[in-house]
Amino acid sequence: MTLHRKNLIDGEWLGEVGSRNINPSNTNDVVGEYASAGPEEAKQAIAAAKAAFPAWSRSGLLARHAVLKKTSDEIMARKDEIGRSLAREEGKTLAEGVGETIRAAQIFDFFAGETLRLSGEMVPSVRPGVGVEMTREGVGVVGIITPWNFPIAIPAWKIAPALAYGNTIVFKPAELVPESAWTIVDILHRAGLPKGVLNLVMGKGSVVGQAMLDSPDVNAISFTGSVGTGKRVAAASVEHMRKFQLEMGGKNPLVVLDDADLAVAVDCAVNGAYFSTGQRCTASSRLIVTDGIHDRFVDAVKERLHKLVIGDALDAKTQIGPVVDQTQLKQDEDYIAIGRQEGAELAFGGDRLERGTPGFYLQPALFVGSTNAMRISREEIFGPVANVIRVKDYDEALAVANDTPFGLTSGICTTSLKHATHFKRNSEAGMVMVNLPTAGVDFHVPFGGRKGSSYGPREQGRYAMEFYTTVKTAYTFAG
Ligand code: ADP
Repeated sequence: MTLHRKNLIDGEWLGEVGSRNINPSNTNDVVGEYASAGPEEAKQAIAAAKAAFPAWSRSGLLARHAVLKKTSDEIMARKDEIGRSLAREEGKTLAEGVGETIRAAQIFDFFAGETLRLSGEMVPSVRPGVGVEMTREGVGVVGIITPWNFPIAIPAWKIAPALAYGNTIVFKPAELVPESAWTIVDILHRAGLPKGVLNLVMGKGSVVGQAMLDSPDVNAISFTGSVGTGKRVAAASVEHMRKFQLEMGGKNPLVVLDDADLAVAVDCAVNGAYFSTGQRCTASSRLIVTDGIHDRFVDAVKERLHKLVIGDALDAKTQIGPVVDQTQLKQDEDYIAIGRQEGAELAFGGDRLERGTPGFYLQPALFVGSTNAMRISREEIFGPVANVIRVKDYDEALAVANDTPFGLTSGICTTSLKHATHFKRNSEAGMVMVNLPTAGVDFHVPFGGRKGSSYGPREQGRYAMEFYTTVKTAYTFAG
């Protein structure tokens, strides 16, 4: 039976079917059919969110806590079913799909707790008899625009704090993964959100997303996606003097030093570069390796790549699922061709793979003999493709790691306390990993980067408050 999912606008499920959701592991499998909103529906959703803001922003803490807690509990109780559906529509493995679903439940649980920990400050004024209170208030209508690579975790880490701090929401998920977005909204709606507080507008970025950017009634936009769209969000937001927060690409370095534990380094590289089919903004796409360990490292990574099971995301044995769609597959293959043309040596993989069903299967690709000036070192590929850059020592490794327009995550594999400490202090990235993959972060601490990767306050954990609230300073003269 085909699912027919509608948009949620002002508490009503609305809209005719406009797009199909295809399983990248088996393109004959249609996950469901989804409403595709036009600009008018986007405007209705924004108006509904605006109307709902005054009451929701003043709602009791326990009302907000109850919705977030119930949502967390339902997601956790349904983790296997939701995780499977996520793997089916996005192509990450079952284990990754269930893990991401658990992550979403944990995020809602964290922010349920945060509703009960809201606080402010009270200080004496410099004027005798006057008191000063500093409190935080919701920002208003928040536009949430999300990408396809974390279909439930990214919506969760934006929606949960937005609601906890009293904002109302217009949520536009990526076109490729509407089922996970619909599921999370359905759960929140049934958990008791008043009408208009959370609106779902599935549809095209150029239509629904653009209508959100162009509206003077959207007070803040939280965006995760490409650099190109991020710049549009920024320009439109400045025009409307609204708050905005951008999470975009990465070209994350993993440094491997001569003194590294080889097994740890190989684990970090293979996990960071290839798991989730390399489709993570935190993926390690540049492997920067010093001379003394280079050949042993490359051989060991190749050996691991030979053993990886690439196949249908829903097969429990699969370790790497398919690429998300035809467009992304073409981008990956184009970059593999570019790497070869630039003179890098393809040491492993890079070919299309045939499996039992028609899908976007690609063998993980490893380049060696690359330089940091090559396009494959400078541009985000967003697929299972990584390149090794050989360097002579730690100083050169650090310089190469930092020589990038991006700055999301970075990593180092070393047993030297001196180098690990120096790298933590001098790496130009928002998140730094020592003897850990560059991808894979906790949900209760800040997430975000520097340079071309991110703009605005950090996401997740208590730091999320910076974006989803605005500070008020109130003075009282009591006589
Ligand atoms: P990706 O490469 O991850 O698909 P995009 O930046 O194209 O990156 O997409 C991220 C999100 O931005 C998606 O939800 C997409 O629909 C949305 N989007 C695309 N174009 C626009 C636009 N002009 N205005 C607002 N949102 C957009």
